[in-house]
Amino acid sequence: MDNGLDTSLGDFEEEEELESHKPTEGQYFYSNKMGRVILKAMEEVIGLEQMIDVLRAAGLPHLINNYPPNNLKLGFPFEAVSGLQAAMEKVFGIQEGRELNRKVGHACLNVGLREFNPILGIADLPVRLLPLAMKLHVGFDMFAMVFNRFSDQVVTLSEDDENYLWIIERCPVCWGRHTDEPCCHLAVGILEEGLTWATGGRQFRVEEISCVAKGDETCTIAIGKRPIE
Ligand SMILES: [Zn+2]
Repeated sequence: MDNGLDTSLGDFEEEEELESHKPTEGQYFYSNKMGRVILKAMEEVIGLEQMIDVLRAAGLPHLINNYPPNNLKLGFPFEAVSGLQAAMEKVFGIQEGRELNRKVGHACLNVGLREFNPILGIADLPVRLLPLAMKLHVGFDMFAMVFNRFSDQVVTLSEDDENYLWIIERCPVCWGRHTDEPCCHLAVGILEEGLTWATGGRQFRVEEISCVAKGDETCTIAIGKRPIE
């Protein structure tokens, strides 16, 4: 596996710029690297030809064969993230589009681990040796940190008796969208795959229970505390 070390030095050099970034109200960004991860994952799932259709439908034709550079600069607008989700639903139909967005989330985890591991050393953590509950706590903390630190997305963590709650207070996935049903399937997919990865192949119930696009305060994803056996 490519450990991406060739890019890691460049990433660190850009951190100063990152720290000084204060989002202007209403203008929020993912890092270029995250935008790139989404686009590469999407292309992996639907193929290059359909990818071109989706980019056109999203009103992002400038990204055809021209993905953002592989750096941590906050240059990939939230509108592009949500526009891609909507475009998938337009090109493939709502049901299939949402299912595909979830699959893109699965693929994002794998592409993302490749991209972020050189910075975070995630793969070196002895997470697999921890008891399940601890493993999940460590995993959620780290995962939330990646989004809070390397993007304008805001994630907080909570839990009730049955579920861990992944609460996205500022969500790029449905940014500016209005839907009848929760529509952040990309985020659900990333979490599903992250859980499977961190627990050595176990499956969890992952469900978006509230969504800003349908008028809720936050996009909240509930994750069952016990794996499905
Ligand atoms: Zn959302």
